[in-house]
Amino acid sequence: MNLFKRFWQWLFPKKPKPRHVHFVEGDTPPSVIEGRDLIVAREDGEDWAVAFLCPCGCDDRLELALIPEVRPNWKLSVIGDNLPTLYPSVWRKDGCRSHFWLREGLIVWCKEESPS
Ligand SMILES: [Zn+2]
Repeated sequence: MNLFKRFWQWLFPKKPKPRHVHFVEGDTPPSVIEGRDLIVAREDGEDWAVAFLCPCGCDDRLELALIPEVRPNWKLSVIGDNLPTLYPSVWRKDGCRSHFWLREGLIVWCKEESPS
């Protein structure tokens, strides 16, 4: 049974579910975010900020500036089927202190810096 399960998982490895991007009108993202997706506040064709829940599971709301006038700021590119990529990485200085990249909708953890 165990062997069968392992064989099954080898045949059909679980793929992590990518996150998608949703755009809202306005200069601030909504204060309440549900689910795993990213909310981008867009006004006059300019992306102002992106907000999403911390992927570590602590469910803190993270908000990153996307406009170059604000420091620090991030670059968001949307690839293919609505898959977001953020540059540079996100490193929380407080709370859970998570450090991760978001690449094409998937979270890539920076393990060497993650809290123990
Ligand atoms: Zn967290």
